[in-house]
Amino acid sequence: MALHIGRTLPPAASPFRLKDILSGVAACFEGTGIVGRFEDELKSFFNVRHCFAVSSGKAALVLILQALHEIHPERDEVLIPAYTCYSVPSAIVRAGFKVRLCDMTPGTLDFDFDRIVSEFENPALLCVIPTHLFGMPSDVERVKSLVQDRDLYVVEDAAQAMGAEWDGRKLGTLGDAGIFSMGRGKPFSMVEGGIILTDNDMIGGVLGKRMAAIKGYGGFDSLKLILTAVALSVLISPRIYWLPKSLPFLKLGETHFDPVFPIRRLSAFQAGMAHAWKTKINKLKAARSANVHKITGYGLQALGLGKGAIPDLIRFPVLVKDQETKKELLRKSERAGLGISDGYPDAINGINEIRRQFDGRVFPVAQDLAERMVTLPVHPYVNENDLQNIAKLFN
Ligand SMILES: *Cc1c(COP(=O)(O)O)cnc(C)c1O
Repeated sequence: MALHIGRTLPPAASPFRLKDILSGVAACFEGTGIVGRFEDELKSFFNVRHCFAVSSGKAALVLILQALHEIHPERDEVLIPAYTCYSVPSAIVRAGFKVRLCDMTPGTLDFDFDRIVSEFENPALLCVIPTHLFGMPSDVERVKSLVQDRDLYVVEDAAQAMGAEWDGRKLGTLGDAGIFSMGRGKPFSMVEGGIILTDNDMIGGVLGKRMAAIKGYGGFDSLKLILTAVALSVLISPRIYWLPKSLPFLKLGETHFDPVFPIRRLSAFQAGMAHAWKTKINKLKAARSANVHKITGYGLQALGLGKGAIPDLIRFPVLVKDQETKKELLRKSERAGLGISDGYPDAINGINEIRRQFDGRVFPVAQDLAERMVTLPVHPYVNENDLQNIAKLFN
């Protein structure tokens, strides 16, 4: 990897300011009531009866899966897209369940709906997880209509779509339950964090009981969060980002399968950082949306986007000609600090730790995405000049 010193864009970023960190620190002295208030605000904004704020999107997924399993103890398999964030199988394995994969429709980031039907015949299947990858809306309604007469849950992975809307509806509220992530590189970030939403009283009731047994952040963990927030607020800036990016031990931008992670309630610090979240989310969304429109103005086509409205993307997915073209593009972007990035390194069945689960089955469309897809940055740090340089690389 070539070392590039100078302006370097991260692939994704939801910047926060010192002010946000200070408001988080102030909240630490106020106690955890502020977390309950944040949850109440989310409930009313998303118009759902139950909301739980936790330490990560992965933690949110684990808790939902365990709650669903409590309702249907005979079911312990979870169906996900064969191309998605490695956090998803990490959470399924952490919860103790088996990962099932469905390939994607070519030219989209969504399920292959012809193939998915036969997966629903599986009597061990607990739920299916449609995913809005990079903010590209997945057809949750179609999944719902296909599972209608079965005891199968639809869990909406809106980790990359907090605050996003499609067809006049808020993503995250379309399934039986939904999650958001507030980790780095997500639509809105407090270093880390996750949200569970559900309007289903049965699921909400089980989750509520489980939440009572979950610990919050300890003093040391909160301090670590505060220091990480300070470090991130400085290092994520394009003027500085080349430095942390060049330090291999930070492993920035790398994707790992890792079923070992804490499950905690959200801390007062994080809820304090989220102060005025609706306004902040709207600002971030507006900045990204302006960049998305400029990129389409340069004639670049987002993967999975039909004609008509453009969704609230957090990264702009593009399919290139072949793997060589992709490697070349990533090399050039690296040298110029343009923040073009790989999606995920492999299809889920290619993850070493779990590949045995899939009995050698192949998922060619997911594989192809792993080989040929890149994402373009659209976050608020991206400027006109960056976008022109990115467009030039494609011409
Ligand atoms: C990031 C992500 C998650 C997990 O969220 P974390 O907060 O990082 O644990 C789950 N699903 C998708 C699609 C994601 O992008």
